[in-house]
Amino acid sequence: MLPYGRHSVSSDDVAAVVEVLGSDWLTTGPWVSAFEQQLAKLAGAPGAVSVTSGTAALHTAYAALGVGPGDEVVVTPLTFVATASSATILGANVVFADVTADTGNLDPDSVAAALTERTRVVGAVDYGGHPIDAPGLRAAIRGTKVILLEDAAHSIGGTLNGLPVGSLADVTTFSFFPTKNLTTAEGGAVVSADADVLARAATFRNIGMVKDPLRMRSPRDEAWWYEVQDIGVNYRLPDVLASLGLSQLARLEAFSRRRREIHDRYSAGLGDLDALLLPPTRPGANPTWHLYSLRIRDGRRKQLFDHLRASGIGVQVNYIPVYWHPLYADLGYRRGMCPVAEEYYEQEISLPLFPDLTDADVDGVIELVRGFIRE
Ligand SMILES: *Cc1c(COP(=O)(O)O)cnc(C)c1O
Repeated sequence: MLPYGRHSVSSDDVAAVVEVLGSDWLTTGPWVSAFEQQLAKLAGAPGAVSVTSGTAALHTAYAALGVGPGDEVVVTPLTFVATASSATILGANVVFADVTADTGNLDPDSVAAALTERTRVVGAVDYGGHPIDAPGLRAAIRGTKVILLEDAAHSIGGTLNGLPVGSLADVTTFSFFPTKNLTTAEGGAVVSADADVLARAATFRNIGMVKDPLRMRSPRDEAWWYEVQDIGVNYRLPDVLASLGLSQLARLEAFSRRRREIHDRYSAGLGDLDALLLPPTRPGANPTWHLYSLRIRDGRRKQLFDHLRASGIGVQVNYIPVYWHPLYADLGYRRGMCPVAEEYYEQEISLPLFPDLTDADVDGVIELVRGFIRE
């Protein structure tokens, strides 16, 4: 089975990990610091806080922003459930806004309509790798204290109007799961231009331990002293995995280039078929593509999906609208709330996309899709 996504681990990546295994630091050491520095540089941010997954990054980001009971967090439903559930776990009310039909990203007009006095955060996703409409979303929250959070699990390395993903929103989170654009096996990170948010994120992922005297409530002249002021968790990324991330960062540009080539090859091979909608790129956007999100308009998504799976192509569907899951249905969320996202979901099928895919693999998938459409 040709998978829809797959990591690329080179012998250099392996050597980087093996080196750390023989060192004094398996965790909380120099590779974590170096990885965070490189990440921050890439993301155009002054600092980064690495964590153990993309879900942990979202939980950490919402916690660092002080999200809690009584707060509303506006999110897209066309995402992995963690974008929403990481706010729900903190006691916030999640409000779903709709997406635009072209990119599948949050629609600024729908966000504006969803804002209330209780809105604390807007959580947007770079769906498939296409950057959010950051200027539009900023305009929607202008004049409020609402914070823009970007779940960039799909899009590390992308840019919008020349600005790197990581510098578009107030807070940005990444995932380094193996199918994503670079991997640490499991891993994630939070980046922000706000030093306070970064400090709170670093404290949260380290069990709430405050070691900086300037941040202590009652600093003491005792070298062992630290304070725990709030609940935290242990989301520390080990050096063993940070070293893989560092090594992968050096390959990200090549990954992005190859992902773009494959994306273009699918679009060139399928662009003439009226039954299909291809993923567009908006002016100014330079995506690092995580998904090739094909949409089929004739109602035969399930048939195409089953046909490709039966032919050994590991296609996926991204995503079941988040509020369709029983977790949110039980809380009273109803189908039909975000019709554009629901239609996107009903038509969507993700074709294989990862750097080691060959042109012949891509052409084989194109031929299978074309054959199905002509039937
Ligand atoms: C993968 C993903 C996450 C979660 O990341 P993990 O590392 O798997 O925990 C969150 N949001 C989106 C949009 C994702 O694709």
